[in-house]
Amino acid sequence: MKQYVIGIDIGGTKVAIDLVSMQGKVVASAYFEVLSKKESLSSLSKMTEAIDELLKNKKLEKKSLKGIGVGSPGPVDSKKGVLPWSPHLPGWKGTPIVRVLKQKFKVPVYLANDANVGALCEKHFGVGKKVKSLIYITVSTGIGGGIILNEQIYAGHSFGAGEIGHMILVPGGNLCHCGKKGCFEAYASGTAVAKKAKKFIKENPNSQLAKLLKKEGGVSSKTLKQAFVRGNKDAKKIFSEQAMFLGVGVASLINLLNPAMIVFGGGVFQPPKKAADFIWKEILASTKKHAWKEPLKNCKVVRTQFTKGVGSLGAAALAIENLKQKV
Ligand SMILES: [Zn+2]
Repeated sequence: MKQYVIGIDIGGTKVAIDLVSMQGKVVASAYFEVLSKKESLSSLSKMTEAIDELLKNKKLEKKSLKGIGVGSPGPVDSKKGVLPWSPHLPGWKGTPIVRVLKQKFKVPVYLANDANVGALCEKHFGVGKKVKSLIYITVSTGIGGGIILNEQIYAGHSFGAGEIGHMILVPGGNLCHCGKKGCFEAYASGTAVAKKAKKFIKENPNSQLAKLLKKEGGVSSKTLKQAFVRGNKDAKKIFSEQAMFLGVGVASLINLLNPAMIVFGGGVFQPPKKAADFIWKEILASTKKHAWKEPLKNCKVVRTQFTKGVGSLGAAALAIENLKQKV
């Protein structure tokens, strides 16, 4: 009998579920919009219905399901198995998701932070298959990270490790949404880029960039990329600075942990390709400039090959990883 796991990714607004073979092949998927941000029970019961449906559609018996992995944003306490507080789903805090799914499906259920799950996805199914240590960095509206050392997620003493976005790069610098100043994320995330562009056009309302962004429909990292493709030098400068900071952050991680691989993912590499490739080239140049030669020489700095999110597949990897350890 073939064996399968379920991977569940809890996002800010939707839940994605994959039915995955033990070899990492996605055989069926489902997703739905979160039913309520104030309470989790309705969405939780929809989750169990969706899993039942996936198994039924594939004509699989319940016993072919071997485990369930769940990825969630925030500092997840994997031992307690309850969801942490998240600004997107405030009413979900404390939901005993592991217990509920375990009772319903009678299989082991594992819960981890979504960026850690992303790192596991690269390790099991992505570019990191052959390495024992890697750092996964996702750059979108924020910056998240997952650290794998000696083939294991490094979760930290109290499950808080991997918060790469909140390494302090500039003491007393830009205010971060976490409440501290000068975080990596406050300089190198998509949100930081949009803020910088807003400041620029406020100070230079008659600039070409101000006109272009207005035409593109407002300020975001996406419209800024369009301005870059049209040859705007100020947009180029903003991306160049973002990439410089990304390289600085990565260089510190390379010097600190000497990983075999750094894998970049996230919205920063969304099209247009010309802009994404420029940012990537600049990240590599900045990393080379700031990291120590020896650890850098032995570290592959690469982009993810997954073009869509890795959340639910990563959650499946979390289940597979833990099941293998149990054997
Ligand atoms: Zn911060």
